[in-house]
Amino acid sequence: MSTLEIKDLHVSIETENGAKEILKGVSLTVNSGETHAIMGPNGSGKSTLAASIAGHPRYEVTSGSITLDGEDVLEMGPDERAQAGLFLAMQYPVEIPGVTMTNFLRTAKTAIDGEAPSLRHWTKDVKTAMEQLRIDPAFAARNVNEGFSGGEKKRVEILQLELFKPKIAILDETDSGLDVDALRVVSEGVNRAQDTNGMGTLLITHYTRILRYIKPDFVHVFVDGHVADSGGPELADKLEEEGYVAYEKAAASA
Ligand code: ADP
Ligand code: MG
Ligand code: MG
Repeated sequence: MSTLEIKDLHVSIETENGAKEILKGVSLTVNSGETHAIMGPNGSGKSTLAASIAGHPRYEVTSGSITLDGEDVLEMGPDERAQAGLFLAMQYPVEIPGVTMTNFLRTAKTAIDGEAPSLRHWTKDVKTAMEQLRIDPAFAARNVNEGFSGGEKKRVEILQLELFKPKIAILDETDSGLDVDALRVVSEGVNRAQDTNGMGTLLITHYTRILRYIKPDFVHVFVDGHVADSGGPELADKLEEEGYVAYEKAAASA
């Protein structure tokens, strides 16, 4: 049982006109096995939250805390966060010339676990996960992210999720740019990781579409850098019908 706890998190970025506060006191607790959907309008700070949990150097935490099972995440470098059991989907967005997917995945798995996976199991696990995600076997020999389409990158993200077995995953707009078939395949992968590893999930999304495939236990409305409302899955249905307007008005007049 693991717990990611975010308490009264304030985050700023440096702009031409000085520091700008983007996150204005975010509190959230994600336990193993739980799926929390974070939903909000564009520009509300959702990706800033994901980047702050990932330890992106651009985002300065000015106050508040992030802990995983009581350990101070903010004290950890990005690699240590992965070793501690956090999965941050934006971690490997770059092309890495000359490094094949197979070698990359094995190196990353070794770094995360602190020991190399047994070759026999590893080869089988990679093959099975790739088949389930309907990733072309030829991908294994290709260089990391080189010429991958948006949809292929998303599948590879979920491939990592299944192989690295994180305690808590933060998925930012995993549904963007996916057609319905790809969305289903990717969602099945997330659900498998939840069912087999008890993974907790912070699912950040602008649209309710992905919530038809990945059922949230909790839904949080994110507006103007903070959680404006929280509820169960029914809150997503309400947002689908009514949008964020009422929340944005309330935030503007606050
Ligand atoms: P969301 O993911 O909800 O669309 P973001 O976290 O991307 O929101 O952005 C929140 C706010 O922070 C926006 O007003 C955006 O313009 C601003 N912002 C985020 N990152 C940067 C950046 N690197 N430089 C300038 N402004 C930024
Ligand atoms: Mg679930
Ligand atoms: Mg975003």
